Amino acid sequence: MDFGTQKKPCRKCLIADMNPDEILNGIAEYIRAVPADKRVDEETYQKRLSVCKSCAELSNGMCAKCGCFVELRALKPHMYCASEKKLW
Ligand code: SF4
Repeated sequence: MDFGTQKKPCRKCLIADMNPDEILNGIAEYIRAVPADKRVDEETYQKRLSVCKSCAELSNGMCAKCGCFVELRALKPHMYCASEKKLW
């Protein structure tokens, strides 16, 4: 391992300071790292995301109602749809 030249991901950077690949990779890494007991089952997750994908509030992976990345919001068992209609 080369400790001298390998760039470590910044844990304190704002989105404005990151490149898009770092942002997307960070989200994907976070999703993968959530343990099974802290996430909904895959069927529930996909159902929630399916609702988000057909929702007018979804924009660039984010919910306009709450500002969350829906792939993170839908993952958590205690979370719910941000719409007042509670679509999931
Ligand atoms: S969380 Fe609810 S309001 Fe937000 S995008 Fe998903 S379905 Fe739409």
